[in-house]
Amino acid sequence: METVTVRLIGADGKLTEAKAVPKVILSDAEWKRRLTPEQYRIARGKGTERAFCGGLLNNKEPGIYACICCKLPLFSSEAKYDSGTGWPSFFQPIAAENIREEPDHSLGMVRTEILCPRCDAHLGHVFDDGPPPTRRRYCLNSEVLLFVPKEKIATLAEPADRSQHGADSSSKQSNSTASDTGHLGLAAATTQGKQSQRPAPQRAEAVFAGGCFWCVEAVFEQLDGVLEVVSGYAGGTAETANYQAVSTGKTGHAEAVKIVYDPTRISYEQLLKVHFATHDPTQLNRQGADVGPQYRSAIFYADQQQKELAEAMIADLNAAKVFSRPIVTTLEPLRGFYPAEPKHQDFAACNPNHPYVQAVAMPKVQKVREKFKSLIKTAEGSDGK
Ligand SMILES: [Zn+2]
Repeated sequence: METVTVRLIGADGKLTEAKAVPKVILSDAEWKRRLTPEQYRIARGKGTERAFCGGLLNNKEPGIYACICCKLPLFSSEAKYDSGTGWPSFFQPIAAENIREEPDHSLGMVRTEILCPRCDAHLGHVFDDGPPPTRRRYCLNSEVLLFVPKEKIATLAEPADRSQHGADSSSKQSNSTASDTGHLGLAAATTQGKQSQRPAPQRAEAVFAGGCFWCVEAVFEQLDGVLEVVSGYAGGTAETANYQAVSTGKTGHAEAVKIVYDPTRISYEQLLKVHFATHDPTQLNRQGADVGPQYRSAIFYADQQQKELAEAMIADLNAAKVFSRPIVTTLEPLRGFYPAEPKHQDFAACNPNHPYVQAVAMPKVQKVREKFKSLIKTAEGSDGK
């Protein structure tokens, strides 16, 4: 078995001595199952998140930042600083062993990539323009980091470590404390014995259109059980699936969102309900000031079941006369979904002061918060970015 020498978190919440542990090697399919699409794109595909958009950029709480893939502790909050670059930055890793550096010649530049030595996750890059004492800047993607607040650090201890600790009667107490808090989220492949994490999320997808995708995305991002929302285009072909072409209204596409959700926590019907409550399905080929077939109200169904659920929902809404005019939402078979350009993703979340977001997206978000209280992610929601 391939091993790597790193320092782990012990049951007492402190770093252990450096020791050889098995590497975490999983198939691509398994990583895809365990990670959100954005985590997978960055950690396993060497991607980069947009500056100023990561969820941990402004986090100033004390604690430890661990690898999102295998939970190896990587950085302490004590080494975090504001570099002004828009990405979470640290001047040193929690232990030299816990970061691997490799030369990176992509994009016509010479940079130094940083990786998780245990699972080979791509983390970011390191540069020589940091503050003293190291003068180094470890530039990270929030998406690849799991932040564990100070009082919960012991939950990062490997289960194997805890049971060893339990055998040692002198430290029974710390062992029980660690067990009570449970092992957060995913277990690394190196763990053994009983595992207490909840099962990996189920995944299903829904594709809706209801006007400008910035707004539709913002609405669904906040629902509990929604793992990821991607802005994009549906209803046309791959060749013309770009903002400029779609804006002409001649490509057949609608601005749409792909909602990746856990069907054990939120249903397709609940998503439909939120969709019909947050746009006007009686406007043909427009949504307010946004005019053209690219802004049409549509449901792109992936299978017969989704089609029937959408038909039933529309029939119910019409019968109950929820709207004063008939619903004109089109039901279209999903032949392809094409993600929009990066600058359109998470637009509302990243640009809360943009006039359009303030005027159109925020009222919709507020409406969902009031009308669908029970469906909203809680503050400590585990799927938030
Ligand atoms: Zn890792």
